[in-house]
Amino acid sequence: MFDLSAYNTFNLTVYAQSGRVIAVPEDLEQPVSGPFIILGGGSDVLFTEDFAGTVLINRIGGIELGPKLDPEGHPSSDESQASHIMVRVGGGVLLDELIATLIEHGICGLENLSLIPGTVGAAPIQNVGAYGVEIGDLIATVEARDVFSGKQITLTQEQCRFGYRSSIFKEQGWSTLFITHVTFKLPLNFEPRVNYAGLQSCEFKNAAALRERVIALRNEKLPNPKYVGNAGSFFKNPYVSAERVAELKAQYQEVPCYPQSNGSYKLAAGWLIDKANCRGIKHGQVGTWGKQALVIVNLGGAKPHEVVALAKYVSAEVRNKFALDLVPEVRLYGKHGELSWDQI
Ligand code: NAP
Repeated sequence: MFDLSAYNTFNLTVYAQSGRVIAVPEDLEQPVSGPFIILGGGSDVLFTEDFAGTVLINRIGGIELGPKLDPEGHPSSDESQASHIMVRVGGGVLLDELIATLIEHGICGLENLSLIPGTVGAAPIQNVGAYGVEIGDLIATVEARDVFSGKQITLTQEQCRFGYRSSIFKEQGWSTLFITHVTFKLPLNFEPRVNYAGLQSCEFKNAAALRERVIALRNEKLPNPKYVGNAGSFFKNPYVSAERVAELKAQYQEVPCYPQSNGSYKLAAGWLIDKANCRGIKHGQVGTWGKQALVIVNLGGAKPHEVVALAKYVSAEVRNKFALDLVPEVRLYGKHGELSWDQI
């Protein structure tokens, strides 16, 4: 049995039948048989029970800087003309460590994603986002290897089909791909993205200053998985029609809603959970975080079924109050592999 305690940030005591650490792509040459799961930092997963298969843990390292590009996208030999740089990163590199390294080298673009737990290889799967930046917007290509056939493929940004916390890697038929490397196209000039509250009123002279502010905001509001088991936002923000927003506004003038280019509106799942009286609640050893109700926390020694029960309770309360269905952002795994929300 392979102990997964150190490989899920919920800190649940769960086991897989076996586990393999993948340090270089060639480690995947030994074929996988039977069910398998690929893990990065284990920061976006909930194991609902022990897993009867193999866990492949992505620890492929390396950060390769260059080439630099001019504004037309051509390799630039003249440093002063360069506006962007390509950066190829191993899938097992921690995203936050990458961001720190980039900033040291004067490379910008990812600073709003500071302190997001997890690895670079996991980030495109969810298209992780924070403070108005989604990682998919900065990805040029993703290299992946099929764990059964060994076939190596490279997908362009367009082929990755990035959406809100989604990508091709979550679609049926694509889940056998192990992301070995991600190549980013990143700006060399600092263009701050400061639409979100907490960033708007500040002047940032460089990416390091913006990173510092994002880290401070996250530390103020979110539990650090080193000390309190959690997997970040448990649910996705729901998208609703303008008519639905008008109905909600008639009842709750202050409802936070963000218009989208397709005419729909994004609601804040954390606000809905709060209004459904589920912020800071505790059921046994599981609760929702008092400063951000969207995060479900393991208060110490929680069992997987307790996390599931609390998540179901919260979603039922939101449904009763708002007639809206919350869907998990966290990926759910059971004995034989990934499960849908309706299956647990
Ligand atoms: P917040 O600022 O209290 O805002 C609540 C929600 O409203 C957020 O989820 C955000 O959606 C949305 N929002 C706020 N300002 C917005 C704006 N100017 N334009 C569009 N949407 C806006 O949220 P928070 O809990 O402190 O989190 C701040 C950021 O960190 C958010 O982007 C959040 O997604 C990110 N975060 C991610 C995780 C994770 O596990 N993935 C965990 C914690 C925080 P979006 O979520 O779509 O941005």
